[in-house]
Amino acid sequence: MTKTENEIYDVAIVGGGPAGLNAALVLARSRRRILVIDEEMPRNQVTRESHGFLTRDGIKPSEFRRIAKEQILKYPSVAFQSAVVASVTGGDGDFLLWLEGSEAAVRSRKLLFATGMKDVLPDIEGLSDVYGTSAFVCPFCDGWELRDRRIGVIALNDSSMHFAKMISGWTKHLTLLTNASMLNDEQRAELSTRGIPVIEESIQRIESQQGYVSRIAFNDGRSIDCDGIFFVPTLVQSTNIPEIMGCNMSNNGSVMKVDTDPMGRTNVPGVYSAGDASGSPFQLIAAASSGATAAAAIQMDLLDEEWNTVR
Ligand SMILES: Cc1cc2nc3c(=O)[nH]c(=O)nc-3n(C[C@H](O)[C@H](O)[C@H](O)COP(=O)(O)OP(=O)(O)OC[C@H]3O[C@@H](n4cnc5c(N)ncnc54)[C@H](O)[C@@H]3O)c2cc1C
Repeated sequence: MTKTENEIYDVAIVGGGPAGLNAALVLARSRRRILVIDEEMPRNQVTRESHGFLTRDGIKPSEFRRIAKEQILKYPSVAFQSAVVASVTGGDGDFLLWLEGSEAAVRSRKLLFATGMKDVLPDIEGLSDVYGTSAFVCPFCDGWELRDRRIGVIALNDSSMHFAKMISGWTKHLTLLTNASMLNDEQRAELSTRGIPVIEESIQRIESQQGYVSRIAFNDGRSIDCDGIFFVPTLVQSTNIPEIMGCNMSNNGSVMKVDTDPMGRTNVPGVYSAGDASGSPFQLIAAASSGATAAAAIQMDLLDEEWNTVR
């Protein structure tokens, strides 16, 4: 960390998923000089198709980003940099973003974190082999493709009943797999009444054929054939920089999120957050929407400052 660049961007956007990209589009159209810094490791990179985004249903995640960038780069005041932001110093009006592997800092007046979340998979042999082909986390994203198929629903403790109910909207051929966490009698009766089998034994491994799940084997020797899996991952923030900078965080159910006002402002002046990181419903279109909202707030805050400096 030795030198800073002279150029100061109006806004640095950390993260180039739908939240950061939509913020970039709105700010570019607001004639702001912006830099999008992106590590290019989006949450949905394992999937082959994204669903539920109007006009882009079924698109490859990489193609979604390519089109977005192409449209944003039509505006001359935007730049992209492929890099990881390692830390941030300075404050509102002059933030310094230090990038991994670089001695120069990027300077910006405002700072938007659109850094998303990471999914930590349960430690089950074979699960990562089928993640994104036939094992998924969100039925709204991938339930349609597995409708009426034989689904293993892997969910522990408090989430198990809720998740079983969710998946029952897409298929009646589901088996709840608690991987050795035990249900109570009332929960077992609730499932039984609805014809949903439950296996509370620990999972030994997930078997696949050509990258797709075929069978789930249990430690007591049982196994079930299945066509797909839905499971509950542990979600963690992609970066802890907002927390280090003093942004308030709160637990949104089982997920730590960056607290913002409805416009994406954090409690730290000049710092904003959008997308999965600040707990918008975990969907591409919701992330894009919150990025657009935060961009509008940033533009209004910059205009306020500029308006008030004229005497
Ligand atoms: C398997 C799977 C399938 C999904 N399928 C769908 C679907 O079909 N439809 C749907 O609507 N939603 C889907 N989702 C959810 C969707 O991926 C997320 O809601 C969405 O990507 C959130 O957008 P975001 O912009 O907040 O974060 P992301 O898309 O995760 O983008 C964040 C970006 O910030 C970058 N970043 C993080 N930290 C740093 C740093 N320090 N420096 C620089 N860059 C950084 C990351 O590398 C990444 O590129 C799926 C999720 C998963 C896990």
